[in-house]
Amino acid sequence: MSGNEYILFWTEAIRQLRENGDISEQEHDMWFKNMDFIKGDLNTLTLNVPSNFFRDQIKQRYLFLLESRLRDITGNPMKINFEIRKNAKKADNPKDLSTRDKTTNHQQKRKPHHQLRQDYDFSNFVIGSNNFFAASAAQAIGLNPGGAYNPFLIYGGVGLGKTHLMQSIGNSIHYLLIDKKVEYITAETFINEFIHSIKSETQSQFKNKYRKVDVLLIDDIHDLQNKKETQEELFHTFNALYEAKKQLVFTCDRPPSELRNFADRLKSRFERGLNVDIQPPNFETRHAILRKKMESVSTNIPDEILELIAKNVTTNIRDLEASLTKIVAYAELVGKRITVEIAQRQLKGNFTSSIPSNISIDRVQRAISEYFNITLADLKGKKRTKKISFPRQIAMYIIREITDYSTTEIGLEFGGRDHTTVMHAYQRIEDRMKGDPTLEPILNALTRSIRGDN
Ligand code: ADP
Ligand code: MG
Repeated sequence: MSGNEYILFWTEAIRQLRENGDISEQEHDMWFKNMDFIKGDLNTLTLNVPSNFFRDQIKQRYLFLLESRLRDITGNPMKINFEIRKNAKKADNPKDLSTRDKTTNHQQKRKPHHQLRQDYDFSNFVIGSNNFFAASAAQAIGLNPGGAYNPFLIYGGVGLGKTHLMQSIGNSIHYLLIDKKVEYITAETFINEFIHSIKSETQSQFKNKYRKVDVLLIDDIHDLQNKKETQEELFHTFNALYEAKKQLVFTCDRPPSELRNFADRLKSRFERGLNVDIQPPNFETRHAILRKKMESVSTNIPDEILELIAKNVTTNIRDLEASLTKIVAYAELVGKRITVEIAQRQLKGNFTSSIPSNISIDRVQRAISEYFNITLADLKGKKRTKKISFPRQIAMYIIREITDYSTTEIGLEFGGRDHTTVMHAYQRIEDRMKGDPTLEPILNALTRSIRGDN
């Protein structure tokens, strides 16, 4: 073999990983399509990747998988080497190429973006199963704005990293693709600027400002609910940028379909590209985030304290940071090693209560399965017989009515169903209530007993 024929090993490895379901189509497009085979021999394959960051992610996620697959195919222990691409193929301006790889000291090369926080970048963002997809797509957009994922919309609860991720896209483009103009704005400021432009008769300046950017990042678009005129304006801005293949990124506290008092045509624009959610992090990710935050703190906090915080603060990352800040401040103040006991005492008020303040999904599910005399497993399961699906719809309806859970969260608790299924169930029950006067009293009685009112 001449060296280049070893590409067969590479393509076969990918084919097998795909076939065995080790990597999804999304992962394939996101990561594997961006690696090019360069050369090989009996012991090594050399691949070309777009950035250091990309290489590190591949190593962390897939190296073991890839190397063991290659060993199976060739019967040899195989190692993979990475080379960082010198002239990344997606850059359209040759000027940018030299800056592309130097992500570590890029800050010195260009002034920080005036609207973006410098510490909101990918290197400070910990990837876990809760945000994997959102983070992967964000990175891809950071390297190639206006490409496959447009518009890109990140949704999820407060403090889960939406703004951090959105600004990371902005920073990545600002430093690596220096001819691209990035504009970041919260929906609230967008509304205020728009209103101001009407009052001061400067609407055309306002329009121009937003229509000549390459990347528009609008944070917290749920704030546009009820703002009819601003929605209208954004609709036109959206169209102008979208047609010019400019990148649009939005964040929202819920899936766009759940926005109320929102123009349908704008909602459907949001849904046109890629919508991904961020979920609350699990213990491991919370722990990893705390360790990451410790890198920028000079005080030493023992790992057992980080674990304690990760275990007990489960709501979101903002709360996690608040606990860490508190304990660091305390450690600095008293100047001694923090013990678990001290931390427990200091953080009592920060820990997530083990008694849920509102009704849990599980409680409703149990009550409904009992009332209809079906098993909990069936209620949450895949069966679609009427005996099961009707109680299931009722359970979803009641949860939606009396708890704060989003339809996404509810769907997850019903065997990982999609949020649209939950919305559909809700609608079905509402429709049925209109035609069947006996249904509402039953639902009311059930709700009262779940709430513990009787
Ligand atoms: P949101 O916009 O969803 O309300 P933010 O982006 O403001 O949340 O995140 C809240 C805080 O948590 C920020 O300080 C952010 O840096 C931090 N954070 C969120 N997710 C991560 C993560 N995966 N890794 C590191 N820090 C994170
Ligand atoms: Mg935010």
